[in-house]
Amino acid sequence: MSKTFCGYCKAEDSKVLYPTIDIFGNHFTVNHCNKCQAYFLAPRPTDKQLAQAYDSSYYGEKDEKFEGRVEGFIDYFRRNRAKRLHKHLKNGAKVLDIGCGNGKFLKSLTLFGKYELNGIEMEGNSANRAAKIKEIKLKIGSLKPDDFQAESLDAVTLFHVFEHLTEPMETLEIITKIVKKDGIVMMSFPNIDSFQSRMFKGKWLHLDPPRHLFFFSPNDFKDLMEVFGFELITEKHWLTEQNPYGMVQSSLNLITKKREVLYEALKGNTDYVQGYSKASIMLQRLYFIGSFPLFIFTDWVASWFKKGATVEFIFRKK
Ligand SMILES: [Zn+2]
Repeated sequence: MSKTFCGYCKAEDSKVLYPTIDIFGNHFTVNHCNKCQAYFLAPRPTDKQLAQAYDSSYYGEKDEKFEGRVEGFIDYFRRNRAKRLHKHLKNGAKVLDIGCGNGKFLKSLTLFGKYELNGIEMEGNSANRAAKIKEIKLKIGSLKPDDFQAESLDAVTLFHVFEHLTEPMETLEIITKIVKKDGIVMMSFPNIDSFQSRMFKGKWLHLDPPRHLFFFSPNDFKDLMEVFGFELITEKHWLTEQNPYGMVQSSLNLITKKREVLYEALKGNTDYVQGYSKASIMLQRLYFIGSFPLFIFTDWVASWFKKGATVEFIFRKK
């Protein structure tokens, strides 16, 4: 049996906040760690539950993770993300993207300058797609202490990856070691302190049980990175790539019996959505298209209060 220990610091002293159910019907709670202030999924999902959650359907069954129009939308935001990183780097910089997915973010960087591209991705369809991009030096697996020399990297990026890590503290320690002085760490993750998180609790899209193991409020995370020797350069809360869809899917989750039905449909996971009629999926798609502009606006408002559903940071190593 799994025990109730913090997904970040492993302490066993925590408070239960609310229940949640994953797409396989497993029950968890979201707890708040009394030691490190992380929020985490309890009990820690078993290896078997995690293996099931990361099978081929997670990465999308086809050539791309999502269907064409959705991939096109994401491409646009990937390029903007690459541009935001590019501003802080010199030509020829060595960049590592941890959890590089299909490698398109790294590839986008080459639109803006010359870079040495390194990626790490878990085995699966995304890694197979990244392996086809010849400019990327790809490692399949996870970051290990000896993968890179000390102070050898100009930038390390983790986009919606940190919250998935089973050994997050060790990963931050390795990153701190391999990044050069004045080097950049750029990362994004769900904001557990967001309006969406508070409104939808266990049904919030970005809770994504059982894959998201822990969360930090943006302020607590800034303090944590300070301890690791990083200063904050920028913090972005208005993120159209992730946040408005969080409203769409979380509000649908209030109505549908299973969570993330439309999201799985967009990934082509036909097994998961087989209990839903074509008309139901079509209605959910129409709601998505119709409500999206409104939710871009509400996300903009939430970002004034730093309460957008996800947050992106750029840190510099002191
Ligand atoms: Zn903790």
